Parts: sequence; structure tokens; C-alpha cells
Amino acid sequence: MFAKKTYKKMAELRFSALREVFNREPVEVKIPSKVVSEYYAENVFDLPKMEHYLSKEAYKIVKQAINEGKSLNRQEADMVATGLKAWAIEKGATHYTHWFHPLTEGTAEKHDGFIEYGENQKVVEKFSGEVLVQSEPDASSFPSGGIRNTFEARGYTAWDVSSPVFIIGTTLCIPTIFVSYTGEALDFKAPLLKSLSQLDKAAVDVCQYFDKDVTRVIGTLGVEQEYFLIDEALYYARPDLVLADRTLMGHQSSKDQQLADHYFGSIPERVMSFMKDFECEAYKLGIPVKTRHNEVAPNQFECAPIYEEINLAVDHNQLLMDIMKKVARRHKFRVLFHEKPFAGINGSGKHNNWSMATNTGVNLLSPGKNPKTNLQFLTFLVNVIKAVNDNNELLRASVMNESNSYRLGGHEAPPAIISVFVGSYLTNMLENVAAKVTERKMTPAQKTELKLGIGKIPGILLDNTDRNRTSPFAFTGNRFEFRAVGSSANCSAAMIVLNTAVAHQLFQFKKDVDSIIKKGRNKDEAIFQVLKKYILESQKVLFEGDGYSKEWQDEASERGLCSISSVPESVSMYLSEKSKEVLIGTGIFNEKELESRVEVEYEKFTKKVQIESRVLGDLAVNHIIPTAVTYMTSLVENVRGLKEIFNDVEYEKLAGVRKELIVTISNHSSSIKKLVNEMIEERKKANVIEDSYKKAIAYESNVKPYLEEIRNHIDKLELIVDNEIWPLPKYRELLFTR
Ligand code: ADP
Ligand code: MG
Repeated sequence: MFAKKTYKKMAELRFSALREVFNREPVEVKIPSKVVSEYYAENVFDLPKMEHYLSKEAYKIVKQAINEGKSLNRQEADMVATGLKAWAIEKGATHYTHWFHPLTEGTAEKHDGFIEYGENQKVVEKFSGEVLVQSEPDASSFPSGGIRNTFEARGYTAWDVSSPVFIIGTTLCIPTIFVSYTGEALDFKAPLLKSLSQLDKAAVDVCQYFDKDVTRVIGTLGVEQEYFLIDEALYYARPDLVLADRTLMGHQSSKDQQLADHYFGSIPERVMSFMKDFECEAYKLGIPVKTRHNEVAPNQFECAPIYEEINLAVDHNQLLMDIMKKVARRHKFRVLFHEKPFAGINGSGKHNNWSMATNTGVNLLSPGKNPKTNLQFLTFLVNVIKAVNDNNELLRASVMNESNSYRLGGHEAPPAIISVFVGSYLTNMLENVAAKVTERKMTPAQKTELKLGIGKIPGILLDNTDRNRTSPFAFTGNRFEFRAVGSSANCSAAMIVLNTAVAHQLFQFKKDVDSIIKKGRNKDEAIFQVLKKYILESQKVLFEGDGYSKEWQDEASERGLCSISSVPESVSMYLSEKSKEVLIGTGIFNEKELESRVEVEYEKFTKKVQIESRVLGDLAVNHIIPTAVTYMTSLVENVRGLKEIFNDVEYEKLAGVRKELIVTISNHSSSIKKLVNEMIEERKKANVIEDSYKKAIAYESNVKPYLEEIRNHIDKLELIVDNEIWPLPKYRELLFTR
């Protein structure tokens, strides 16, 4: 009985993993015995360190470059490099790397030692400005969507001065943009910086209507990061988690999140040590993590930092995910950033809390204290709403990908329809403006009444916004919260689109207001008229109800807010005429860059479905079917035995149920085998398609549906096959053992 033995062994891996977990103790964490503020950012070459290590002149230059969003020239870089090297070597660094965000997930680094040959072949530590401002990693294996042919495979990286250099271990990390030999962006950072600069320009122009002192507007971002923790031993017993980052099978646990008893519950001890450990690492790198709690699903958690300037917040989120992955290993955990690692329970998101702030210290999405600042608040609020209304499909494209597609529209997750929630107070306010503003010249009394109304917006809307957790884009008192962004994503993609859409909208607003002013109306009246127009034009996107409900799906489609769940189709919206007008029109991408990005997304999607389909096929055929057959064989033997001992009447009575079970198992096994074969055939057909969009569509429509179908049969088998020989850790074990 070879098969039986083998599969007993697979199941043994599952049981030995469980035994390992039962015996685990929390790992003791080494945390500096000082208050956080004393070691915060100790591994970052931030302004205070620059002031200490750089010459007065160099310090002034960098500070100015940071404030104005400029880059350094070679000579300036040389001056900075000298001080930077001194600091780095004092901290024990031996290598440096240009740290960048390629279009894959995560970040990239290639380390080079400081050593060079000096005089008389003697090795010396060297680090010049040239290395700081530019380096040429041979990065030909990164996806470029066809921008680089291999003969021009080199890309250039250059320091983004607005994000400070930091040290991890013994490596000095320089945050950089990554562009091709011919100047096209190959990363997320280059276009993100462009979008921020456009937002700055557009928002400053509009602020000028209200306050002449505003000369700079920055985007702000606070990223809530959700994740799951799984014990390492159990993780290794699940090849689907290891290879595809999510479970491709597994029957729902009898109890999971029904009682919501995990949410905000007391944090398990082992998890607490992990949290303290990664938070400490984050502090040393100047990442302001502040909030930690249990999330809704079992073994699901969240952390959130204090918000920062968007570029820095994105770098910090990428860095934080990296740190969390590394630190988790010390605690014998694996952290799952996948948006939907487990079917049937909540997935993970990365809520992007987004706003704009001026150099004068005003949050543009926070109501002020008087009618003037409130008109400014209303102006920005309405323009954001209008931007989301007009760029609905583009915004969805920016968050849609293979892994997030399992979450959006799923169990208690934002729907794949992008709508805006503002709360009842502001809904009334917007309705009021739309009703009271008239096309004709308004009387002073009318204007006063309007302004009085606006003046009454409470300064603290935070407590007034009845929180709607089901909205993908919600106003939460002093910021918008874009909740559709996936937990594993680099939020640059979403931020590039949001910044650009709002910038584009604000440019238009300025034009619209100015043209009314030219006709002889005063400024406030012109602003009111344009706001009214925008409010009326944005009705379709405003929704206060339950975003999870079926009724909303129907209503949304009636409103013309389409819900595309196909990933490639959704991604293709980047290339609609409207999207091009926004993204190319504002100079964030050129045509080639935009097309290549979309190309990369199609390919990523296809490859991910392909991997999942292969992993599921292998597991189904190599693990599940043999296990089912083993159990079935034992039932057959059992039935035969009954026949030997009992008379016919007694036998019929006893064997009936067992026979039925044999038939059920046999049917599921045959269905699995048949479906896996069909799926492989569909893959073969899809693989020969040349056009990457059509190929992705074939994977979406013809391959992806099999994943669900096959797992359904496997999950049924899991319920009836002998627990002792089931080869993979079950949901109840993955989710409740820690
Ligand atoms: P909740 O779960 O209630 O939404 P959290 O405290 O978990 O709240 O996260 C809120 C996030 O929003 C934090 O990262 C916070 O710093 C951020 N935030 C607050 N104000 C702003 C703002 N003006 N701009 C951007 N992010 C902000
Ligand atoms: Mg939130």
C-alpha cells in the first residue's frame, strides 16, 4: 500500500506543524531601554543629521532642494556625498544601494561595496556624488512593457532628495527613481513625483482665490495596513500559500468571524511581541507607526502610521512591509499581505487616507472657522468629488489587479463600484448650495444667507460624519479615505491617479471660475456658480447607502456607474480617451509610458492566474485525489468486511450509507480530474495568444473560473474524508492556531 503510506506522511506534516505551534512561546524582543523619541530615525540621514555632517553650504542646498522638490546637480551631490559617507561609515555601513520601486511588487536593491582601489593598489572606502545622483543598474529583467529592448537594457536611477537616505543592516539605501536609457519612467516613483508637482501647481492656483500666502501644497497620506499572520510551520505545509500567497482550497471553518470577537480584541502574546519588534525597527527608520489592533477576521491585524507627505508615506509603507516580512520570520510567523488569502472571510486592504496641506499649515479638506475658509474647504471637497465622478473608471483601474479582484465586491469589502460618501451633514450642505445658487446675479441677501450656512460647518466634522464603512471612497471628517486599494499594492498607482485626477480637475475649476469673473461677476459668486455646476454634475457618484448591498449594484448600473469585475477590462480603462486626456494631458506619462504600464499589468495578471492554476492543478491531482482514493479504498474494504460478517438483510442496512459515501467521493474525484484537464487545455489555448490583452482576457474568462469550480469539489471532499489523512492544514487550524 504505497499510496496510503505516502499520504499518511503528508498528513503527518500537517500534524507535526500543529504540534510545533502548540508548543511555541512568544519570542523575547530586544527593545532599546529608552523612550522612542530618543532613538527615532537613528538610521536615517535626516535634516538634523545633515546639519551635523554637511557643510553649511551643502546643508542649505539640500534643504532648498527638498522644499522646492528639485534634484541636485553633480557638484552639489559631491558635497552631500562626503558628509553622507562619513555618517554611513560611522554607523558601520559597508555597502550602498539605490532603492527603487519597479513595476513588480515590492522594492528593488542591488548592493555595491564602498571599496575602490586607491593609490598603490591599496583598497579605500570611496563614495562620490556621482553615485548619489545617478547609477546604472543592469535591470534588464524588470518588466518594462516593451520600453526597453535588451540591447538598451540599462536603466538609470537617481536620488529623490525628498525621501531621505537610510541604513538597513550595513547597507546605505538611497531612495531613487528608475528611468530607461531613453528617459521613460520604469517605476512608480517618477510618475508619483510628477503627479505631486501637478497637484501642487493646481492647488496653489486655486488657493490663491482665498489666501495669497499659499505658495506650496503637498499631498498627505496615512496608510492603514491590514495583514494576516500565519504560523511558519503551518505555512510550509500549505504549498498554495507558499507559491501563490493565498489558499486555493479549504472549507470554511465552522466558526470564523461571525461573532466579531477578534476585532479590537486583546492582542495575542506572540503577535504582540512581533508587533513591538517591527515597530521598533520602523522607529529606527523614521517610520511613525502609531496604531495597532486586531482586525475583523481571525488572525487578521492592522497597523497605521501618522500621515506624512505622500512620497514619503509610500516609501515608508513599502519599507514597512519589507520590515514586517523580515521580522515575522524571527517570530516564526509569515505575514500575508495578499488581499484575499482565505475565501469566505474578510480580505485585507490598505486604506489610503488622503488630503492636501498648504505651506501655511492648513488642511484643505478640513472645515475652517469662518465662511471664507469654509468656502475654500467646500471648493476642494467638491473638486475632489467631481474628479472621482469624472475619473471613476480610471480610479478603479488604479486599484484593480489579480489579487485585489478576489477582495473587491467580496465579503465585507468595498465594491468594485467607485462611489463617494460624504455623510448626511455635507450632503445637505451640497444640496443647499445647489438649490440656492442662481444663474442670475445674486442679491447681497442671497449671498449672505449662503455664506452664513457655510460658515456654520462645524470645525470638527470628524464626529459628525456618520461613518460608512462600506464606501470605497469616503470622507472621514478631514480627509478622504480611498479604501479600495489592496493590501499588497504599492499605493503609488492609486495615488498617481488620484493626485492627477484632482490636479486636472482643479486646473479646470480655475479656468471655469476665471471665465465667469471675466464676464463681470465677483469672485465668490463665480466660485459658487461653478461649485453648483459641479455638484449637479457629480450626482451619479455620490452614494450614502450600503455599498455592500445587492440593491446598490442595480442602482449603480442604472446611474451609469459600471462595475467591471474583469481585471484586464478594468485595467484597459487607463487607455480610454478620458484617461489619456488626464494622465498624458497633465504630463504624468507619455503615450508610450502609459501603454507599457498597462502592458505590464496585463502580463502580471496572466502570470498570476497561470501560477494559481498550476498550483491548484498539481495539488488537486497529487494531493487531494490520492487522499480521496485512499479513504475510498478503506471504505470499500469496510463494506466488503461487512458482507463477510453479516447476513444480507443486516448488510443492506449497514452498508447503504457507506456506499453512498463511496459514490460521492468518487464523483467529486472524477469531477476534479475532469475539470483540471479542461483547465489545462484552456491554458494551452490561452498561452499561444500573442496579444497580451487578449491573452489576459482568455485567462480571465476561460481559466480563472476553474479555480473556483475545482476548489468547490475539493472543499466538499475535505468535509467527508477522514481527518487523519487530510494532507493540508485546514482553515480552522490556519486561522485559530497561534
Ligand atoms: P480609522 O481606522 O478610524 O480610519 P486610523 O487611526 O486607523 O483610523 O487611521 C487613520 C489614518 O489617517 C492615520 O494614518 C492618520 O494619520 C491618517 N490621517 C489623519 N489625518 C490625515 C490627513 N489630513 N491626511 C492624510 N491622512 C490623515
Ligand atoms: Mg480608516
